Amino acid sequence: LMDRRSDLARGRLKIGEMTLGEQLLVIAGPCTIDPKNPNYFYETAAAVKEAGAQAIRGGVWKPRTNPYSYQGDNRSLDILMEGARRTGLPVDTEVMDEAQLALALDAGVTILQVGARNALNYSLLRAIGRAIAQRPEVSVLLKRSMHMGPLNEFISAAEYIAAFGNPNIMLCPRGTTPTLDGYRNHPDESATPLLKEKTWAAVVVDPSHSVGKAAYVPAASLAAVAYGADGLCIESHIEPQKGIGDDPKQAITPETLKTLISQARALWELK
Ligand code: PEP
Ligand code: MN
Repeated sequence: LMDRRSDLARGRLKIGEMTLGEQLLVIAGPCTIDPKNPNYFYETAAAVKEAGAQAIRGGVWKPRTNPYSYQGDNRSLDILMEGARRTGLPVDTEVMDEAQLALALDAGVTILQVGARNALNYSLLRAIGRAIAQRPEVSVLLKRSMHMGPLNEFISAAEYIAAFGNPNIMLCPRGTTPTLDGYRNHPDESATPLLKEKTWAAVVVDPSHSVGKAAYVPAASLAAVAYGADGLCIESHIEPQKGIGDDPKQAITPETLKTLISQARALWELK
């Protein structure tokens, strides 16, 4: 399978204007779009673009641990796409079922996120693979489940999607449980070189969910780049304390992001 995909390897994957392997990809934006305050998203999207991000993330539908906390809102999809229009950048959002998948693709989302909780949801993975088989402009950010052990489980999950013909997958380590006490999860960016050895896919590390605290995100990001990551997916918000979802705890400001991106790109260039 790796051979079959060698002409479509991580070095050829295009995200908007950039090609993975030619530059470090940074996807940034809030954990969760607040449908009551769309300007937070628009202003954050503009600021992370200015900081150097080449794609914007923003949660429309959220897989919350607590069933009584905010679960997402279809109206946020319009806000996400308006952010894409204003910045001219591709957007990433999580889809948790086939209805959300159809809505996201119809709206023009080009980076579909599979969350950690659904990384082993084979029917969803198949549905995504089928839906994007003939859409080379669409890619998938596949999070590693927090409960995944051997890397083959993760690689097989990617295979479920790629088997339909679209190999545009970014494998995303995002921390596992049991946690490293003090962090939200156990940082797993060290999986990067192993994943790159064993697959055709790009590796885009999410330091935000891994450590779960804004103060530790820069170090975790640089560690990921040192391990050979092709990109980073970072939660950022212009006013983290006003955000919803994970933002008050783990979003960094666009100002911090800008410094981090310049350090991460300098380190990436050394390899
Ligand atoms: C997210 O990206 O906000 C998210 C919920 O991530 P994960 O699936 O890795 O927990
Ligand atoms: Mn989050």
